[in-house]
Amino acid sequence: MADSGMLVIISGPSGSGKGTVVKKLCPENNFALSISMTTRNPRPNEIDGVDYFFCTPDEFKKVRDNNGLLEHAQFCGNFYGTPRFYVEEQIKKNKFVVLEIDVNGALQVKEKFDNCVLIFLIPPSMEELANRLINRDTESIETIEDRLNRAHEEVKLIDKYDYIIINDDVDKAVEKINTVVTAENLKPFRNTSIIKKLNGSEN
Ligand code: 5GP
Repeated sequence: MADSGMLVIISGPSGSGKGTVVKKLCPENNFALSISMTTRNPRPNEIDGVDYFFCTPDEFKKVRDNNGLLEHAQFCGNFYGTPRFYVEEQIKKNKFVVLEIDVNGALQVKEKFDNCVLIFLIPPSMEELANRLINRDTESIETIEDRLNRAHEEVKLIDKYDYIIINDDVDKAVEKINTVVTAENLKPFRNTSIIKKLNGSEN
């Protein structure tokens, strides 16, 4: 086992299927899913404390101003942020902490932490993305348009990411994320104790 946990950041346009992929990934062994705070209204199927910690703008600002968020961003008129405490606790336990966050948040985390891997999940096409958002039937047409515009903006920053995974099949996307994390975990800087031991045995 490597020496430390890892932040696994998964971004991608609204409708790229991040939520579904992440839910399938996280029951597995060493993954822990960070639950974000948001000021967005819950969708009918969403549960407070499971999908998000839903809060008012004032509650959000209070946590943010007390340095309680690892990163935060505004997305289509709502605030979103990653509570710091859970992530830091899980990293100490050597877990792979999954953050499902937007591009702005991902780039903030990349600036602050070496120990992160950025994965961008994309739909098979932008047409498919529009169909998924319309068929999901959780947002108004204006919000869908807003999210599609945002998707075009986010895709422009894709080269800041370490890996791109096309989500045309959820199980295959999950398998690819597992492969990425397994390979990343073999990097020397995540295995310094093995290296020290090897060097020690040479003396
Ligand atoms: P949704 O409203 O569809 O649940 O999420 C909208 C966008 O906000 C998605 O791109 C999602 O990944 C992102 N998001 C969710 N939680 C966070 C967070 O804690 N921080 C940031 N920066 N983005 C988040």
